[in-house]
Formats: sequence, structure tokens, C-alpha cells
Amino acid sequence: MDYQSFFDQQLTDLRQEGRYRVFADLERRAGKFPQATCHPSRQPGENPGEPCGEVTVWCSNDYLGMGQHPDVLKAMHEAIDRCGAGAGGTRNISGTNHYHVLLEQELADLHQKEAALLFTSGYVSNWAALTTLAARLPDCVVVSDSKNHASMIEGIRHSRAEKRIFKHNDPEDLARKLADLDPDRAKLVAFESVYSMDGDIAPIAEICDVAERYGAMTYLDEVHAVGLYGPRGGGIAEREGLMDRVTVIEGTLGKAFGVLGGYITGSAALVDFVRSYASGFIFTTALPPAVAAGALASVRHLKRSKIERARHQERAASLKWLLTQAGLPVMPSDSHIVPVLVGEPCKCKAVTDLLWERYGIYVQPINYPTVERGTERLRLTPSPLHSDDDMDRLVAALCEIWSEFELVREAA
Ligand SMILES: *Cc1c(COP(=O)(O)O)cnc(C)c1O
Repeated sequence: MDYQSFFDQQLTDLRQEGRYRVFADLERRAGKFPQATCHPSRQPGENPGEPCGEVTVWCSNDYLGMGQHPDVLKAMHEAIDRCGAGAGGTRNISGTNHYHVLLEQELADLHQKEAALLFTSGYVSNWAALTTLAARLPDCVVVSDSKNHASMIEGIRHSRAEKRIFKHNDPEDLARKLADLDPDRAKLVAFESVYSMDGDIAPIAEICDVAERYGAMTYLDEVHAVGLYGPRGGGIAEREGLMDRVTVIEGTLGKAFGVLGGYITGSAALVDFVRSYASGFIFTTALPPAVAAGALASVRHLKRSKIERARHQERAASLKWLLTQAGLPVMPSDSHIVPVLVGEPCKCKAVTDLLWERYGIYVQPINYPTVERGTERLRLTPSPLHSDDDMDRLVAALCEIWSEFELVREAA
């Protein structure tokens, strides 16, 4: 077999479909977010002469700019000075640092659960926790929302448990799926609160009602909500007073909290069970102490401070309003996420290329398989640090590009 030409052909296919991913080579600069310096791309398929310099980032998941918050940076500097670079081992073999323990206590408190468990990322937390729960609960069936994130899908797949998919955010379809199952079987309902590509929000109370009626456990991914919603940043379940009704709440420390890592929270027994059986937790080096210290400072700050959340919501509402006034096709969103429909992968890429090259605006195109074909879009993530001027420049640039490419507009 000619291995190299196989790889080349696969990549050519991606390029022809407009789905080939080109990374922006950025240098984030503390204190300057959402501005960043960009380096000329050395990736294959990229224009060599492309201008570089300063860009305004409009697609970061550092939703609140906590990645440059002084408390977070100070905590990380101090932890490096005290503890050095790495954790030095897996959690079981010398790698548990006091910062991990403090962070787990803080996260359990955030979600008002008995216990929390850290993982090296949100992806790993979903993958490892769902794999372990679904594989080890006897004869478990997982009932999964049709728009769940890849990390949940892969975890469920790897568990080899039976899986049923319910219609996105549809408690009635969930009820139908659960009603079909043997009442004595273990059941796990897996879903998210804020879906990050459409910005819609799950009916958590109704899903919990249905799950309780059929004796199912619930597993809620609050990755795009922790830090951002609820009086202490506990997520949508906190905002709606539902944290005690969800069996497992999962989150990330890499998005609104601005650092890195993932976690689950739940009962002491459940968390200890995952700690004791999950391969993706046990056999990997623990997060560096400084990362845990930074995340700890971030979680603590956002428990007390509401300013960032209020300003974040205001910025998102303003941007939606400005885009709508300009007749740009903002997709309906109940959250801070602002999707703008393009509907065709090559055009979606061309729009973002032009934003980058001509306007110094960085938005990554969102194409299949992240979203369904025909719904290719720009996914804009305004933060408290995006100014009125940043917004005006973005909207003006989009208007020019929309006219130039003769893209569909909506009546303002
Ligand atoms: C990003 C994401 C994850 C993974 O979190 P990381 O900390 O980035 O690994 C999990 N679930 C959803 C819905 C996500 O969007």
C-alpha cells in the first residue's frame, strides 16, 4: 500500500469540500485580549503572502477573558514558584498536589455536590466518565441527545453500552425512548445545557422530570455554561435551581474559566467509583499544579464577581442587535453564542479568509461535521472585553463582504 498517497488523497477530499482546517498561528498577549498577534501560516494550503500582525479574535471560548485575569495569572506564577512545572505523576502515584484537592472541593461546592473529580480536559472528563458509567452499570442503556458533543459520543461508543438517541432538546421524545426500555435496566440520560454551535439551551427541568419518572440517571455537560450563568457561575442548572436534580454535572476549566482541565461532580459514591475505575483518569499524569491553582483562582473569582457575567450578556445582546439591524442572518440563540448563517462551506471559509486578510478580524469557519451541511456558519463569541468599536468594525466588515459575495440578507 502507498500510505503517503492515501493520506494526501484524504486531505485533498477535505480541501475540495472546504472542510480542511487551517490553524491561525496566534500569539495571545496577556492584557490585550481580544487582540492577538498572528504569525504567517506555515501550513500547507495556505496563502504564503497573507498579511499578518494584529487581529481581533471573535471566536475564542475564553468567554470572559479570565485567561488574562490578574488573580489567575498571580496564582499561576505563585504555584510555579512554589511547586515547579509538572505534577510529577498520575494522581495515584505521587501526582496529587494540594491544589488539585482544593480545586475539587471548590468545584463540588460550586455545583452543591458531595464530590468532584478533575481530568486533564473536558473532553477526557466526558469520555472517561461516560465510558466508565455506561460500561460498568449492569446492562446500561444510554439515552443521548442527538446534538451531543463528540467527547460524549465517543465515551458512550467506547463503553459498548446500548445507545438510543432522542431528538434534540425534546423531553417528549426522551420519554418515548425511555418508555420502550425494560424498567429494570440501568439508564443514563446524557445531554448538554448550552449547545455551543446553536446557542440554544436544554429544558433541564423537563428532562429531569422524564428521567425521574423512568428511574434514569442524568449526566449534564455544562461546559459552555460554567462560569457564565447562575449567581455563582454554576451554570444553567444553578440559574434554574436544578443542580440537585441532575446526577452528574460535568464542566471544563478551559473555556469561561480560562485555563485548562475538566471535571465531573456528583455524589461521593459516584465520584469515588469513577476515580477508582476510569482508565482515562487513572493512567495519565495529573494537571500541573499551576494549572490547578489558576483554575482555582478563576472559579473562586467568578463565584463572587458578577460583573463579568453581566457585561458578557450585555455584549452578546448588543452584537445580536447590531447584526440584526444590519440585516445579517443571525441565527436564533438563547445564550451568549452568536451564530451567523452562511450555509455553504467554501463561502464560509472565503468569508473568514477575507475577514482575516482585509480586516484583521479572526473568526474560524464552522463547517460539517461540527454542524450539519447547509448550516455552515460563523460562530461569534463576544466577551466583556470586546469594545463598541470592535463590534462596529466587525459589523461593517461583514456588511461589505455580504454585498461583495452576494450572500443572503434578512430584512432588518
Ligand atoms: C469543548 C467541549 C468539551 C471539551 O472540553 P475541553 O475542556 O475543551 O476538552 C466538552 N463538551 C462540550 C460541549 C464542548 O464544547
